[in-house]
Amino acid sequence: MPAFRAYTARNLHEIPQLAGRSADDLLQLRAVAAVLPFRTNRHITDELIDWDDVEHDPIYRLIFPAPEMLDPADLATMTKLLRDDAPAERVAAEARDIRRRLNPHPGGQLSLNVPDDGDRPLDGLQHKYAETVLFFPGPGQMCHAFCTYCFRWAQFVGDPDLRMAGNDPEVLCGYLRRHPEVTDVLITGGDPMVMRTEVLARYLEPLLAAGLETVRTIRIGTKAVSHWPYRFVTDPDADELCRLFERVVASGRQLAVMAHYSHPRELAPAVAGEAVRRIRATGASVYAQAPLIRGVNDDPETWRRLWRTGLDLGVVPYYMFVERDTGPRNYFEVPLARGWQIFREAWSQMSGLGRTAKGPVMSATPGKVLVDGVTEAAGRRLFALRYVQARDPALVGRPFFADYDPEATWFDQLTPAFGEHREFFRPA
Ligand SMILES: *Cc1c(COP(=O)(O)O)cnc(C)c1O
Repeated sequence: MPAFRAYTARNLHEIPQLAGRSADDLLQLRAVAAVLPFRTNRHITDELIDWDDVEHDPIYRLIFPAPEMLDPADLATMTKLLRDDAPAERVAAEARDIRRRLNPHPGGQLSLNVPDDGDRPLDGLQHKYAETVLFFPGPGQMCHAFCTYCFRWAQFVGDPDLRMAGNDPEVLCGYLRRHPEVTDVLITGGDPMVMRTEVLARYLEPLLAAGLETVRTIRIGTKAVSHWPYRFVTDPDADELCRLFERVVASGRQLAVMAHYSHPRELAPAVAGEAVRRIRATGASVYAQAPLIRGVNDDPETWRRLWRTGLDLGVVPYYMFVERDTGPRNYFEVPLARGWQIFREAWSQMSGLGRTAKGPVMSATPGKVLVDGVTEAAGRRLFALRYVQARDPALVGRPFFADYDPEATWFDQLTPAFGEHREFFRPA
């Protein structure tokens, strides 16, 4: 039962498996880590990464910076600053400039989704789809390890203008009382499971109070199930956490742990299976979702095994996301057409109980767009698309079409195939 200890840009030279790296290699790692947040821990370095084939290792790519993640000119500038031992403020200023060019808040998250209910925006809330409110508790804006492709990376770079967070659970509860149409609350981050149980309880328990019976499902978005499964098993307050989950379930609500699993290997250590078993024993459900990432999980067999291994543990396959248009997207993106092939090949090998998976799905500004497939009609190649969520509920569930483009990687690169489908492409 190891105690948690993080490796970051500051102490990455202490990672034993990096001992053989050249000074130049380490300098490049540090240069990328100065811009894109880097953090890992011993469960990942010792249990998940295969260091014998680290060049191609999916978990290594998921966690460790690579020089290709930055534009070559930015990488050169950053490397030079570090090599010259430039003052910390100079390095930080350069990092800020580079970040602002990396589209830190895709989909208009800061401007379009934060509700105001009167005169000022409500900190830490996002309300994009009628039924579901997202809450970002201040102390949960951290993770046990960072994924290099994270679409919420701006939460971790210490720049308050780029960050969403709320410290007052009463702001959330007040909003929910005024909005009885909201049935689902998603506690997210960051990762709420970095909070000690006692702190998490401060955000969860007010939701169980009289007057909030309209909230039927509480979801917790987390990668701790794979990056630090001990959180649910042997951490000092792991048992207390299970009791907290039981109280949520006993209130008559559904508790859903939205588990971010990128690769079946994350479920291989015994402690990862035990984490799922303990969560489910509280009456909570576990759903698996992740983005499709080049070099990490961009093949059908990986998804088939991920869903199959999950199902054996009672984990329900949920979204396969398309990597968002932020951060080092060029390094990670997979064309939509390829994404659909991967999804289809994996999905078609599941029994119906595994076909709960939906994907590939783009979380775009107007809503979540599902790529239903590539098809031919009227002598043309088309993408068949469908909103599975939309800011404008009138768009949900209706098929529409875009011109086929084998290279397209995001919704804004698609054009309506038919004039009458233009309404689906307008930002809401
Ligand atoms: C994905 C998402 C949700 C949840 O959508 P479901 O389809 O209910 O899982 C809610 N809000 C935002 C902003 C989202 O991106």
